[in-house]
Amino acid sequence: MGKSLKVAVLLPIESTFDYSIPNDNELLNDIIGKRVIVPFNSRYVTGVVLEINERSSVADLKPIIEILDELPIFDSDMLNLAKWISKYYICSIGEVLRAAMPPNFNLNSIKEIEIIRQPTRDEIIEIQRKAPKRNKLLQLLIRTGGKISIKSIEKELDLRNISPQLEALSQKGFIQIHEAIETQIETKILALSINPEFVNDEKKLMSYLDKYEKRFPKRTQLISFLITQKQNGREFIPQNEVVNSFKIASSTIQSMIEEGVVLQYKINKPISTKPRTNLAGNETYHKLTEEQDKVFCDIMQFLEKGGFSSHLIFGVTGSGKTLVYTKLINEVINRGKNVLYLLPEISLTPQLVDRVQSFFQQKVAVLHSQLSDNERNQIFQKIQKGEYQICMGVRSGVFAPLTNLGLIIVDEEHDQSYKQESPAPRYNARDTAIVRANILGIPIVLGSGTPSLESWNNAKLGLYNFHTILNRADGAVLPKITIVDMATERKEKRLKKYFSEYLLEKVVERVHRKEGVILFHNRRGYSPQLYCPDCGDVPMCRNCDVSLTYHKHSNKLVCHYCGFVSESPKICNVCGSDEIKQLGYGTERLEEDLAEVLKEYGVEPIIKRFDRDTTSRVNAYRNLIHRFIEGDIDILVGTQMLSKGINIERVSLVGIVDADMHLFFPDFRANERAFQLFTQTAGRAGRKSEFPGEVIIQTSNPKHTVIQHIQNYSIQKFYEDELAMRRQFKYPPIARFTKLQFNAEDLDSAMRGAEEFYKLLPKNKSGFIISKPVVPNIARIRNYYRIQLFIKSSKKLDRSGNLLQQLLKDAIASFQNNDISKKVRVIIDIDSYSNM
Ligand code: ADP
Ligand code: ZN
Ligand code: ZN
Repeated sequence: MGKSLKVAVLLPIESTFDYSIPNDNELLNDIIGKRVIVPFNSRYVTGVVLEINERSSVADLKPIIEILDELPIFDSDMLNLAKWISKYYICSIGEVLRAAMPPNFNLNSIKEIEIIRQPTRDEIIEIQRKAPKRNKLLQLLIRTGGKISIKSIEKELDLRNISPQLEALSQKGFIQIHEAIETQIETKILALSINPEFVNDEKKLMSYLDKYEKRFPKRTQLISFLITQKQNGREFIPQNEVVNSFKIASSTIQSMIEEGVVLQYKINKPISTKPRTNLAGNETYHKLTEEQDKVFCDIMQFLEKGGFSSHLIFGVTGSGKTLVYTKLINEVINRGKNVLYLLPEISLTPQLVDRVQSFFQQKVAVLHSQLSDNERNQIFQKIQKGEYQICMGVRSGVFAPLTNLGLIIVDEEHDQSYKQESPAPRYNARDTAIVRANILGIPIVLGSGTPSLESWNNAKLGLYNFHTILNRADGAVLPKITIVDMATERKEKRLKKYFSEYLLEKVVERVHRKEGVILFHNRRGYSPQLYCPDCGDVPMCRNCDVSLTYHKHSNKLVCHYCGFVSESPKICNVCGSDEIKQLGYGTERLEEDLAEVLKEYGVEPIIKRFDRDTTSRVNAYRNLIHRFIEGDIDILVGTQMLSKGINIERVSLVGIVDADMHLFFPDFRANERAFQLFTQTAGRAGRKSEFPGEVIIQTSNPKHTVIQHIQNYSIQKFYEDELAMRRQFKYPPIARFTKLQFNAEDLDSAMRGAEEFYKLLPKNKSGFIISKPVVPNIARIRNYYRIQLFIKSSKKLDRSGNLLQQLLKDAIASFQNNDISKKVRVIIDIDSYSNM
């Protein structure tokens, strides 16, 4: 019997499958880590080869259909990492590998339709009478000769799931359906280049130009354009660029190709390099401060020694962590090794990207979330080929196929966006990066001005090397923090709407001095609720149990959970009253109200909003920040997007308009989050010694621990208090926190599923605390009812999580035997970041 392959199919199913392969050593060479197409349940799917089995266990295996890659796309280290994720986060290895490759690497089965027989007139009439939709479908197929994807058919005919219709047509013998695999999307485009023969032979060129100069000036223009471009090092010019800029007909280009003066090639689509404003200052030549230098030297010792080591840099906001990273990166690449640099949601931090790129230029690949599939595809392949030494990426960047890694950096390691909530794999990229560094035997550096409690605790326990930078670089000092007690202000009538006079006065002062102001309010839209005072109605989302947010600019009601949009009603939908009130305020209303109250102070500053709604277009973020840096914008009003990675020297005032909305969340991480959010937002102020900063926090709870610790800059003490609390109530980082969610179309099934599952979990297992199923605050999202239960498990008794994994796997296996499992989807979220 020949050899067989163990293949992980890229589907959310548990196991791997064996396939046979021709006994050809050439094919088997290097096959581990390559993608293959395999038959699976009467379809074709993409899989990745994990192992070669010497002898197959099953007698007649299906053969693999095709090997897609010339070179493996995963090496054994990456496969080991994928195995760890699959085990630790309890998901299929196929799901992990799918997340680790560009989306269009996952080729799927498509149906090809062949028309075998044209229907007769009578048959058409018959079908039209019995099944008019089917007739439309048949007509469409005939019209397109069957060359149309199922998706396009469904779109064209506005039908869902047309399989039964196709099946019927096939039974009648009109069509035949073949299973085929889609082809990988072609990334090549046409490009033009001048024929070197013409360039080298002046006579030939002149005679050509003479011939056309008068009658077809466009031809000669194009020729000289191509020649100068070539002289400037740009040999291949995309054909559509030529067509657009010369307004030259394709037929003209075609005849020039035929004449041999222009050559046509297929080239990789160039990655778009739209000119954009650079947000980096000039910091390339800064010398490290003493504190920075100590951190740098300490970590360098580990780098020199080699092997795995983990580091946490706790550096206050503005302490210059970026400079320390870049110096480290420089050392690593000088030694011929590569660096992976992770940061939260890059689209949110283009400034940081620019700063790193200004150090290392084209050595840096950037994997951000606004890339097209095509671009992602190409960058992935280039990284693989070793064309970059540094890769900056968001969460999924942890899978970047850099070889020969020498260092991993996880910037703002506390950031929640490192945790993937949905879909599986529900991994934390920071923790995954640590495992990757461990597998590779290299150092990893985590950095933050407000570390996660997890990392802080690890550092305190000596699991990480702890480095601190307690002072801002370049003589800047941390901003002064002023707490405004809103309860008192209200009593003493010193409020204008929801702004204290103190805040407004300080804003006015800054506007006069042309210094930048940031006002933070973490809620988009105009008002989070509409309310009818006559009947009490609050317009709700039709898919979720949440109220719709009113957006004034678009005059729409929007669900911030599922994206549902409806027109904003002029009168109450229930009672017809025209007294509809707007309750609460989001950034949109804040912007409007602020402008209004500032008029009373005689100033009309330029106020801009900075949130998801105003930055969704490519480069909008960049432009807003650029204008703010330049002083064309006086005040930015925005959400938590403002708290991340922004380094603007002229910002000297930060206001947190409503701190209270962050203080009382029923979530064990509420304090930690509020602390991080306020500290990071505050950290945008006073980053340059010339512009000392002030932070004003408006709250009715000035005695709240978070507010107190922020005011006193008692960061250490905050962490100690918070840790003590977590220890007492057995929450992370002391325990491991797992969320199980049961989704179903009706509340009853979801609850029954959760209860049946709960029965399968052990009740008195030492080291485990398992809560009863509960209905969360928001019972329904996207039309699914949700029931949740939580497991807290001891990290001491279960260091690697094996016990937890076993317990859950056993429960899942037994649960499958229960009928209710057919109606309920069980979602397991290990180290969950949300208990909502
Ligand atoms: P962090 O990431 O720690 O919040 P940054 O890396 O953004 O801090 O640095 C804050 C500011 O201080 C930047 O403008 C940076 O150019 C400047 N800076 C950092 N290190 C130095 C240094 N050694 N000398 C002068 N300026 C520095
Ligand atoms: Zn009403
Ligand atoms: Zn909704």
